[in-house]
Amino acid sequence: MSMSKPANAQYDYDLFVIGAGSGGVRAARLAAMSGARVAVAEEDRVGGTCVIRGCVPKKFMVYASEFARQFEVAKGYGWSLGEPKFDWKTFIASKDMEIARLSGIYVSNLAKAGADLLNGRAVFKDAHTLLVTGREGTRTVTAEKVLIAVGGRPQMPKDIPGMELAISSNEAFHLPTLPKKIVIVGGGYIAVEFACIFQGLGSEVTLVYRGPNLLRGFDEDVRSHLAEELKKRGLRVVLSCQHERIEKREDGVLVSHLKDSMAIESDVVMFATGREPYIEGLGLDKAGVELNAKGAVQVDDSSKTSVDNIWAVGDVTDRINLTPVAIREAQAFAQTEFNDNPTTFDHKDVATAVFSQPPVGSVGMSEAEGRHQFGKVDIYLSRFRPMKYAFMNGDERVLMKLVVERGTGRVLGCHIVGPEAPEMIQMAAIAVKAGLTKTQWDATCALHPTIAEELVTMHEKYVPAELAAAE
Ligand code: NDP
Repeated sequence: MSMSKPANAQYDYDLFVIGAGSGGVRAARLAAMSGARVAVAEEDRVGGTCVIRGCVPKKFMVYASEFARQFEVAKGYGWSLGEPKFDWKTFIASKDMEIARLSGIYVSNLAKAGADLLNGRAVFKDAHTLLVTGREGTRTVTAEKVLIAVGGRPQMPKDIPGMELAISSNEAFHLPTLPKKIVIVGGGYIAVEFACIFQGLGSEVTLVYRGPNLLRGFDEDVRSHLAEELKKRGLRVVLSCQHERIEKREDGVLVSHLKDSMAIESDVVMFATGREPYIEGLGLDKAGVELNAKGAVQVDDSSKTSVDNIWAVGDVTDRINLTPVAIREAQAFAQTEFNDNPTTFDHKDVATAVFSQPPVGSVGMSEAEGRHQFGKVDIYLSRFRPMKYAFMNGDERVLMKLVVERGTGRVLGCHIVGPEAPEMIQMAAIAVKAGLTKTQWDATCALHPTIAEELVTMHEKYVPAELAAAE
C-alpha cells in the first residue's frame, strides 16, 4: 500500500483524529491503511456515542422490552407461560459485556490498521498542534491534517430549578435499578424510544412533550398514526406541557411540577431534549475553526472547516446526526485526502428509523415537503392489521404511505409505522434513492404473506378529505 502523498516529516502525524466514535474510527482506519501516519485521541471508551451510549445499547434495550408484548401475542397462539419476570441487573450485565466486546473490536481494528490510539482528551493549541491530556500527563502532538469527530452530547435545559435531579440518556443505560415510575421529557427520537423501552420493561412511564404531537419533522400521518398506536398500548403522553421545576421529596420521590399545577411523581426524570455538538473547551478558536449559526462546526460539501488543514464529520457538524452518515462523511474525507479519490457524500434520501413500539421507518420527502416542492403530489396510503396479531385483542394497525411526484410518477418518500418498519425502510430506500417510479415499484411482484408486500400493491390514490375539492 502506498500513500497518495509523501509523509510530511515536519509533523508527528499525517492525520490526527479527535474522537474515536463511528466517524473518527472509520476515517483513521482508512487513512492508516493507505499508509498515512495516523493518531486518534479518545477521552472515553473507544466506540463513541453509537456503541457506548447510543444506538447499540439502546437497540438491546428495545429487544429486551419487546418481549413483554410478544409473551402476550404468544398466548393467542396457544402458548401458556408462567408470569414473566424481568431482571434489570442480568440484562445490564449482558449488555455491558457486549458493549465492552464491541469497543475492544474497535480498538483492535485501529491497531490492525496501524493507527496510534492516544487515551486522553485532545484540545487545539493551534491548527496543527494538539495537547493530549491523559493519565500520564499532557503531551504535545503535531499533525498535517486534523479531523474533528467529537460527536455530540445531551442538551439539557438550564433554566429549570431542580434540573440537577434529572438524568439524560447517558445515565439511562446504567440505572442501578429499573425505575418503577419514570417521567421522560421530549418528543424526538430518544424520548419516544425510551418511553417505549421503559414501558415494555414494566415501568410506569409518562412522556411529557412541549409540542402538540410527537416526532416533529416526520410526515403528519406518521405522527398521528404513531400517537394513536402509543395510546392503544397505554403509554401516558402529556402534550403541550413543560416542566416548571423538579423537586426531591424527603422520601426520595421526584416530583415534576408542570404547568397548570400538574405534578407527576416518579423515581427517575429523564430529559431527551436534543443533543448539541461537543465542542466546549476544544480550543476551536485557537485553531481558527468557525461555527455555523446553530453552533456546530461549519463545513463544506467535503467536510472541510474554515481552516484549510482541518475537517469535521458526524454530529459535531449537525448535518444529519446518524451513525451511518458520520461513517459515510468520514469515508469520503479519507478517500479524498488519503486515497486520491475525490468523493463527497450525498445527504439526500437517507433512511431513518425511530425504534419506538411500533417502530417508524422513513425515507425521502414527507407529504408536506413533497407538496411544498412540487405543488401537487399523489399519495398512496394503507392502514391494515398485521397478520401476526390476528389472535389477540387490540386493534394495532400498520401504516404505509408513499409520496409520489405527479407527472413523473417518481416515488419521493416512503413512510412506515409498524413491525419491522426499520428493516423494510432500508430496502425501500434503495428504490427511493434510485428515483424509481410508482409504476416500477408496482412492477415488482409481491411476496405473500408479508407486511412489506403492501409497498407494491397500493393501487388506489389516497386523497385527504380536506384536499378532495382541490384535487
Ligand atoms: P430530537 O432533536 O430528535 O428531539 C428533541 C426533542 O426535545 C424535541 O421534541 C424538542 O421539541 C424537545 N426539546 C428541545 N428543547 C427542549 C426544551 N428546552 N424543553 C422541552 N423540550 C425540548 O433529539 P433527541 O435528543 O431525541 O435525539 C438527538 C438526535 O440523535 C436525533 O435528532 C437523531 O439525529 C439522533 N438519534 C437517532 C436515533 C435513531 O436513529 N433511531 C435514536 C436516537 C437519537 P421540539 O420538537 O418542539 O423542538
